[in-house]
Amino acid sequence: MLILIANLGSTSFKYRLYRMDATGQEVLAKGGYERVTDYASVIDDALQTLQKDGVIASPSEIDAVGFKTVLGKDLSGCVWADETCVQALENFAAVAPAHNPPYANGIRQFAQSLPQARLVALFETAFYQWVPEPRSVYALPKSWRDIGIRRYGFHGASHKYVAERSAQLMGRDDVAASTASLYLQGPAPISGKPLRVVSCHLGGSSSVTGILNGVAIGTSMGFSPQSGLPQNNRVGELDSGALPYAMKVLGLSLEEAERQLTKESGLLGLSGVSNDVRDVNEASLQGNADATLAIDHMVDSIRHWIGAFAWQMGGLDALVFTAGIGENGHEVRTAVCEGLEEFGLVLDEARNQSCRAVEQEIQAEGSRIKVFVIPANEESLCPNKQ
Ligand code: ADP
Repeated sequence: MLILIANLGSTSFKYRLYRMDATGQEVLAKGGYERVTDYASVIDDALQTLQKDGVIASPSEIDAVGFKTVLGKDLSGCVWADETCVQALENFAAVAPAHNPPYANGIRQFAQSLPQARLVALFETAFYQWVPEPRSVYALPKSWRDIGIRRYGFHGASHKYVAERSAQLMGRDDVAASTASLYLQGPAPISGKPLRVVSCHLGGSSSVTGILNGVAIGTSMGFSPQSGLPQNNRVGELDSGALPYAMKVLGLSLEEAERQLTKESGLLGLSGVSNDVRDVNEASLQGNADATLAIDHMVDSIRHWIGAFAWQMGGLDALVFTAGIGENGHEVRTAVCEGLEEFGLVLDEARNQSCRAVEQEIQAEGSRIKVFVIPANEESLCPNKQ
């Protein structure tokens, strides 16, 4: 059986093609596109590439496509990526404008390009179903909460992989096994010392998640992906009082205010340079003070959330960096880990600087808290087996 996993990020499209049978699974091909604006054309290009490279004789050989869908309000977990799912994504597109439309369009595109394939969606919110209610609720009137306004959480596939892989790397196969079967069996009881991990998914979209014994106990992302850390061009955390104030004083319509918060804010808004941290870093190195402020604000926010979850969990055993910035941006990792000797975290700068998109420990000898770079693995069928 050939299964294609499609990961339609806010700025990227990544895919893996698996052959799966009773004896196991193998990756036949993987690929990806960055700085994507037209998802339909990259999907077609990917299918043509698989054919051109001789991986498949025809796209009609693909039996199923799996999607890492983002936010469907009442729809979560693993469901058929059918018209109901597309509708759920479109109905909540206003809440996740950078994420839901690429998936809704991508699912439609695949349904058209691969009419024979079964399409399946696993929602990013699924990993957060065990977050305690006091940490997922907002202090709002009941009528607001009744229409689904709460903290959902995103990047579930990425943080779940980090939960499982970091447990393996920490020698905690009991925790890794519990995480692997989380969606089928729920969290298994873990005896012995609790394993406390904070996972930093830093990419076009970023979030920090606290993970206790392989289960998410909280995350920086809230109701929408316009929350928590500053994102590439989205605001991140913002006081709710700022929106009506800016609308009144700047004379903005709601649509225009929303557009500015979701397209002209974040790293782009603060730096005035770019939504890509590589460009912002470059400008900062050349003395652009706004670019430096954007990077410093991002780092400050990451540290804020790491501290919050380490406190909630009663300590920290491992800190993990993943996704585009987390895997490649050694400057950001250095800044996030600075001055934490008192807490038992010391980075090995040489290891840190040489580590690019490979799985590696980057803490110094004697650091009580381990620091891992774990390349994001959001397209895996069974992450623990890859
Ligand atoms: P998405 O959230 O869209 O899936 P990725 O996880 O691929 O995105 O991360 C994309 C981001 O990673 C880019 O915006 C870029 O800022 C950052 N990035 C990629 N390569 C590097 C690099 N070599 N150094 C620093 N940041 C990088």
